[in-house]
Amino acid sequence: MILNELTIRQAHEGLTKKDFSSVELTQACLDQLKKVDEKIHSFVLITEKEALEQAKKVDKKIIQNEQIKILEGIPAGIKDLLCTEGIQTTACSKILENFIPPYDCTVIKKLKENGLVILGKQNCDEFAMGSSTENSAFGPTRNPYDLERVPGGTSGGASASVAANESIYSIGTDTGGSIRQPAAFCGVVGLKPTYGRVSRFGIISYVSSFEQAGPITKTVEDAAIVLNAIAGNDKLDSTTSQKNVPDYTLNLNKNIKGIKIGLPKEFFEQKELDQKIKESIYEAIKIFEKLGAKIEEISLPMTKYAIAAYYIIAKAEASANLARYDGIRYKKNVKCQMSNVKCLLDMYLETRTNGFGDEVKRSIMMGTYTLSAGYYDAYYLKATKIRTLIKQEYIKAFEKYNALICPVSPILPFKIGEKVEDPLTMYLVDAFTVPVNLAGLPSLTVPCGKIKMREKAKEYIINDGKSLPVAFQIIGKHFDEETILRIGHHYECEI
Ligand code: GLN
Repeated sequence: MILNELTIRQAHEGLTKKDFSSVELTQACLDQLKKVDEKIHSFVLITEKEALEQAKKVDKKIIQNEQIKILEGIPAGIKDLLCTEGIQTTACSKILENFIPPYDCTVIKKLKENGLVILGKQNCDEFAMGSSTENSAFGPTRNPYDLERVPGGTSGGASASVAANESIYSIGTDTGGSIRQPAAFCGVVGLKPTYGRVSRFGIISYVSSFEQAGPITKTVEDAAIVLNAIAGNDKLDSTTSQKNVPDYTLNLNKNIKGIKIGLPKEFFEQKELDQKIKESIYEAIKIFEKLGAKIEEISLPMTKYAIAAYYIIAKAEASANLARYDGIRYKKNVKCQMSNVKCLLDMYLETRTNGFGDEVKRSIMMGTYTLSAGYYDAYYLKATKIRTLIKQEYIKAFEKYNALICPVSPILPFKIGEKVEDPLTMYLVDAFTVPVNLAGLPSLTVPCGKIKMREKAKEYIINDGKSLPVAFQIIGKHFDEETILRIGHHYECEI
């Protein structure tokens, strides 16, 4: 048995049967990290001491025959956007390089209550802006299927690390696809919960009205297990819902006969969509038909406006959210050329010029522009109206369908450096993920096989270097994570 390759469910069973200890499980992940992470660069910080200490505590309970919770003693990696008490949290930006939060974000607090063993903080695009993890101030993460390719982004470290068996699971965040797209690129499961299902308190903000934290796991069942732990109302985040949190694992096995699934044709007909991705998803759909689901094509005509509306709103909120980094709060981290600093404004300028990367600066400029007098109505206001129309279109579709299935990304993992100089092409990679965030819906990435490549990868960590993973997403009604998890679980059991 290779411990670091286990799922949460398997690891939990092994722990409770005393087949192995949490220290052994944690050490197996740490060993794998030491072996492969120099090449993949999933982690920006490894917290070995904390991890082993926590694992020891859990082992003590097990030895004393105390019951342990399902996540107790299971090692996980955390995207470096979530504040962790006493552990450096940087958003992969130079401006926060030495920031050590004095508190845990709610997601971490809840996971700790469930016995989290934290392996460390995972690489991402700076302030979660990007689609490839190339925008990290600490260098890119590489795709374990092909080290010359990106793992997707922005939760690229979190996804690559689960794929490469460094962590049993990870926590990522999704503002415009940052859980679902890297999960697809790395061949793992990723769940973006409904807006308001999971607290954002203590998560470094990019677009407050879009983002949600969620699990990146090896199986759909594991995603349900993690969602159970992190979901729920939080008095520290007024946008969290009061709705009850069901046990997301309870109905996973309930059959999906008669369930109605819509295939939005605007996604499948998009000319940028790789033909091989399309074929793989149609193969997966045959399995759903076999399982008794009713599949129909539907139309969501507003889809074509999603990218424009998303990027206008995202950058507008980003420009406001990032105003707080002034070189005084969160420690003074960026070295200023003191001779250049004659007044407060100079200091802001020095700090922000040296502390932010290109995409972050681009975002602040775009956002400030679209929010300025005279342009506000033409851009920001219009984009928010489109957002409402997109949301309405989905709500209408869900009157008839239980879920929608579509591609996650129009393309397979691309080469490092291929798009980073061309921001617009990079934005277009998000065409299939951003509508979900505009509408606030839950959506689950489920891997559906591999696509053979013409050229073999020069270097890889997993698989055979000859193929790349492909996935589809299952979009659900607001607060109906149960149904999409159930559909995903049935697919996974069938293949
Ligand atoms: N690529 C998108 C952006 O930069 C989405 C990123 C995310 O989901 N955090 O805005």
